[in-house]
Amino acid sequence: MTTPTDTTCTIKPADDNRPKHERIRTGLSKHALQKAFNDNLFYIQGRFREVATRNDLYMAAAFTVRDRLLERWLKSARTFKEHNSRTVAYLSAEFLIGPQLANNMLNLGITDTARAAGDELNLDFDELIETEEEPGLGNGGLGRLAACFMDSLATLQIPTIGYGIRYEFGIFDQMIVDGWQVEKGDTWLRNGNPWEIPRPKIVFPVGFGGRVEQYRDDHGEMRRRWVPDLVVNGVAYDTPIMGYGVGNVNLLRLWKSEAPESFDFQAFNVGNYYGAVHAKIEAETISKVLYPNDEPGVGKELRLKQQFFFVSCSLQDMIRLQLGIAGSLDQFHEKFAIQLNDTHPSLAIAELMRLLMDEYRMPWEQAWHITQQSCHFTNHTLLPEALETWPIDLFERLLPRHLEIIYGINQRFLDEVRIHFFADETRVRCMSLIDEDGGRRLRMAHLAAVGSCAINGVAELHSNLLKTTVMRDFNDLWPERFHNITNGVTPRRFMVVANPRLTRLITKTIGHDRWIRELETLRALEDYADDAALQEVWRDIKTANKRDLSNWLGQQTGCLADPESLFDVQAKRIHEYKRQHLNILHIISLYQRLKNDPHADITPRTFIFGGKAAPGYFLAKLMIKLINAVGEVINHDPQVNGHLRVLFMPDFSVKNGQRLYPAADLSEQISLAGKEASGTGNMKFSMNGALTIGTLDGANVEIREEVGADNFFLFGMTAEEVQQRQAAGYDPRALYNGDIEIKSIIDLIHSGLFSHGDTELFQPLTDNLIYHDPFMVLADFRAYVDCQKTVDQAFRNPASWNRMAILNVARIGKFSSDRAIKEYCERIWNIAPAPIPL
Ligand SMILES: *Cc1c(COP(=O)(O)O)cnc(C)c1O
Repeated sequence: MTTPTDTTCTIKPADDNRPKHERIRTGLSKHALQKAFNDNLFYIQGRFREVATRNDLYMAAAFTVRDRLLERWLKSARTFKEHNSRTVAYLSAEFLIGPQLANNMLNLGITDTARAAGDELNLDFDELIETEEEPGLGNGGLGRLAACFMDSLATLQIPTIGYGIRYEFGIFDQMIVDGWQVEKGDTWLRNGNPWEIPRPKIVFPVGFGGRVEQYRDDHGEMRRRWVPDLVVNGVAYDTPIMGYGVGNVNLLRLWKSEAPESFDFQAFNVGNYYGAVHAKIEAETISKVLYPNDEPGVGKELRLKQQFFFVSCSLQDMIRLQLGIAGSLDQFHEKFAIQLNDTHPSLAIAELMRLLMDEYRMPWEQAWHITQQSCHFTNHTLLPEALETWPIDLFERLLPRHLEIIYGINQRFLDEVRIHFFADETRVRCMSLIDEDGGRRLRMAHLAAVGSCAINGVAELHSNLLKTTVMRDFNDLWPERFHNITNGVTPRRFMVVANPRLTRLITKTIGHDRWIRELETLRALEDYADDAALQEVWRDIKTANKRDLSNWLGQQTGCLADPESLFDVQAKRIHEYKRQHLNILHIISLYQRLKNDPHADITPRTFIFGGKAAPGYFLAKLMIKLINAVGEVINHDPQVNGHLRVLFMPDFSVKNGQRLYPAADLSEQISLAGKEASGTGNMKFSMNGALTIGTLDGANVEIREEVGADNFFLFGMTAEEVQQRQAAGYDPRALYNGDIEIKSIIDLIHSGLFSHGDTELFQPLTDNLIYHDPFMVLADFRAYVDCQKTVDQAFRNPASWNRMAILNVARIGKFSSDRAIKEYCERIWNIAPAPIPL
């Protein structure tokens, strides 16, 4: 754990020796919280209550909670240092941690006391929580997974540092204007961030460009060293991550890029003032903005710089810590278990080699042993377009020494391949770290695989497909390196914080609240699944949650939803493979049925969509427009709007997700089988008692296994059938011409009904479906619509629907991120808890 170098961190709080209940500064009593709140409002915000803004009140509350984390954090740091505890270093370009105030109060166990304290001070507690702006430092599932893992690591008392980038602008804010997505810059830091602590003394230089030199060291040995032509500094910003109900506090350390001070000064002396300013801007650009794509774009130089920047800072920090404790790096791999969250941090392999060899003079073999034993790699995707590669010439220009090292790794690796697959040059070409076809490129997934001692996929199906598709050769070579760790999500945020009504009911029903840390104990709910009284309360809670959401959506969109209708929700990034368009086609089919037969027997539904599209993803943005366009027509058609509503929730985020999951009746998990690695939204919905309509994809497979096939609405082709059908030559035109319903729906879109007569607006989408349909929407359409009819019937029987919902929650325990982290600890990291007493 970190050894704070500045003295403020090692000073004991002045009143440390007094009995706990008297320790006003960090006490947990109502009185202590009130006093601290008033002090913080006055001394930090500089406000009297009479003139305090909403933000002032929020900041005072946040600092009050933060002070209580800090005390525990320092105790954790001291203990981990004394025991030289093995530590997880979770490297991720994204951490989508969500709002912190409510979660930290829960983990400290002060939610009720704080509410009471606030009530007495005449504070609107819920408004304070609502005021917080979340750090949107991620795109979606991958970044949120890192955040759920941080929560579980702290709760399970595993010493951990999460390393990433402190983007000044996170994921854009999404607005919907005239049905289109409009992106607005995310200025999340403008009011200050009370959860982070800048560590100006924890700063590391990071080089770029330049050349490699040969030189003779003082022992007369020939060595190589990198002479970069640009150096920027990475400054640490720390956010404490508290475990639930434990004394452990871990660290999320994010790096901000800055120009070294000497920079401007030198330029100033030689009179190049504007040059100095330019250099400063260039350095600060590195951590300026998160790339808003959930897959890599075309070799963007700045993105490569970001990746190297945070990886280099993080490794230098780990080395500093290990040298401070052990005095040598020989046991580095016993101190740190480095987890690479996708390939974004895979440069860690080359940079750790460089640091050990060039800076600490280790021989290649030892450096390689340490590097490989330290690193572990999680793969998140099978989509070929999402596998990262970098053009060699760009890479060489920015990181010449690293390219040399990668060539060295590759040469040794390919020799191993040649021997293992005796004289099989096809394998050599396919497995090489360098793709030689059409412009040489560096394959980051291969680098990560070669440099790691464990490689894992994120759901059973995905891990199996990995072994037979993108990583097949590697699995043939090193089968023992491959693992599956099915993803999970934290029940603290996604049940307890998001859904207090359900939380109270569960605790009351099963008679304890241990389920919050032992989610498998929810099985006890199975005994009550048939209990009519419970079913009724269960439904009342769902309806109350739906009413809350409906009120909020009403304010946001101006459109109301009937809480008695079936809330059918699809919330996730907008992407063709996730098939929001399949959902829309179904909605249009219902609309058509109602128009043709106003008495058609259709269960009233509210369709709710949420999700951002990458700004450059034309078809995804057009899908958003189509959803809104269909909504505009249906919501204003008095003939059907008593039955159907279509709402688009703008700006889907962790915070907005927490409004959505508790209010869903039906969770749409309808990706083309074989495309969604795991999904985690599926787990959040199910934890809140939504039933899933889904394909056999990602973790859906395991969710269905757990909750029972009878309690899951399954449809569509299997991954195997998808492969067969594609191999046989898939022809969507035949489906368009052969199924009159498909044809009529697509023709209806094409007719201009949803676009004020414009017949061209949606043509890129309809043409794509008819002529290409790469995600086989039309092939699964019939099965989907039929399955939705089963859903319609099921919802009309509240008793059996609620029974299914209760069983979903009772059997969802496997999908706690606590389970996932325990598996990483045992199978991948070989690490044990280091409890900090409360
Ligand atoms: C959980 C979550 C996701 C992931 O959703 P999937 O359905 O698994 O794609 C994306 N964005 C946010 C804000 C989330 O909380």
